[in-house]
Amino acid sequence: MSETHAEFDVVVIGAGPGGYVAAIRAAHHGLKVAVIEKDARLGGTCLLRGCIPTKSLLHSADLLRDLRQAKEFGILAGNVEVDFAGVQRARSKVVSKSAAGVDYLMRSNKVSVLSGTASFVDPHTLRVEGKSPTTVRAKHVVVATGSVPRPLPSLPVEAPYVVTSDELLEFPKVPRTMAVLGAGAVGVEFASVFRSFGAEVTVIEMADRPLPIEDEDVGREFARIYKKRGIDCRTSTKLTASRRVDAGVELTLAGPDGESKLTVETLLVAIGRRPVVESLHLERAGIAVDKDGYIPVDPLLHTQAAHIFAIGDVIRTPWLAHVASAEGILVSDVIAGKNPAPLNYLQTPSCTYSDPEVGSVGLTEKAAIAKGYAVKTGKFPFSAVAKARIGGHTDGFVKIVADKKYDEILGVHILGNHATDLIAEACVAMRLECTTEELANTIHAHPTLAEGVLEAAHATLGKAMHI
Ligand code: FAD
Repeated sequence: MSETHAEFDVVVIGAGPGGYVAAIRAAHHGLKVAVIEKDARLGGTCLLRGCIPTKSLLHSADLLRDLRQAKEFGILAGNVEVDFAGVQRARSKVVSKSAAGVDYLMRSNKVSVLSGTASFVDPHTLRVEGKSPTTVRAKHVVVATGSVPRPLPSLPVEAPYVVTSDELLEFPKVPRTMAVLGAGAVGVEFASVFRSFGAEVTVIEMADRPLPIEDEDVGREFARIYKKRGIDCRTSTKLTASRRVDAGVELTLAGPDGESKLTVETLLVAIGRRPVVESLHLERAGIAVDKDGYIPVDPLLHTQAAHIFAIGDVIRTPWLAHVASAEGILVSDVIAGKNPAPLNYLQTPSCTYSDPEVGSVGLTEKAAIAKGYAVKTGKFPFSAVAKARIGGHTDGFVKIVADKKYDEILGVHILGNHATDLIAEACVAMRLECTTEELANTIHAHPTLAEGVLEAAHATLGKAMHI
């Protein structure tokens, strides 16, 4: 067993989208950088068990949908069948390629990769336990250890009956019946995928609509579209009891119509995630976590120890890969003395990659009113957008929430095909404190889905063109 004592300007713990991006940025600043990763592959949750593999499954599901609809467009695709093993092979291939890409980035940026589980020995020393245990010294440390799924306390994970997203991703076949507990982004994405591949899916959500953090109009319309797809979306419904039975899992639900029982082959528990801090021994670095296990940070993401930073899912900011990466860039700029400004989390896009997609940024209508704005809104349906009609994806809309006084855009909410790409324009607009008038005066290409954004800006001013 080797034992070395290297010294680095920056040691990053965790090679997810927060950690590996922080490392690259620090290397760009000319700093000597190491990343410690306990997983056999680099990329973290996002690349190995989150963003990338789920989108691969969704892509296969979208292909299936399009092939089944192809006849409407004069294309005869014959008898379309699903080879689920092939779907899983495509997922595995894109994950492996992406993980190899992160390896390459580490090498090309001269970032040392140390394999093993890191823990603090003292505020500047880290122990790495793995095949070749080692100890490293760090002038600065970035903790980017991410999160893991939160299981249901009453029913432990037992694949294939009770699973989290980690196990479901690896399923060799599509269950006949499936319940999804929690209609947040992860829950509805899996509901979408497995419904597309033929499962009977029931979504159980305590709030009165799916995607409860999104604008109310989005959540309600999303529920309607899911119903149309044959997904049973039980909102205002609580799980009161659950037990393993021969056929799978029996759930007792309390909903608006009283108590009911539901038996399914597979239950996906998608009730949230918890930060990963347990093996770090943060106390040896003088850091205490909060009541839910998150690492407290200031606006520039310093922890209680000024030379130690925390980023990504391990802090109380949105569980999103692009947030983790933006935080990684920020802390490396702080370490390099570049004096960056704190991130504006209100300008973070939030995306749900189901069928239909949701992309949003800024305040919902309700939140804007609660903040005391005099609010005006404009909404434009994709059914009136030529490009959406051409592609046959007319569900959904673009909604803009703006301030009546100064016309500033406060929030943009898009439901529909390609919403997660379309939201980028709204992010730039909000970053530049754009008004709806400026957005409406920006020439948009025709025919494009982005005309939905343009028309919603016109609608906010009271005069949409094509409706
Ligand atoms: P992680 O990606 O979790 O990486 C942390 C890394 O730290 C891991 O590799 C872990 O092995 C390592 N580690 C932990 N402890 C130690 C230790 N002591 N020593 C060494 N290494 C350690 N976000 C989006 O923006 N878009 C999406 O489409 C999206 N889809 C998702 C789908 C699913 C099913 C899930 C579960 C999540 C999804 N997310 C998505 C969320 C996204 O994956 C996370 O927000 C993101 O991965 C967080 O990045 P991170 O760098 O903070 O942590």
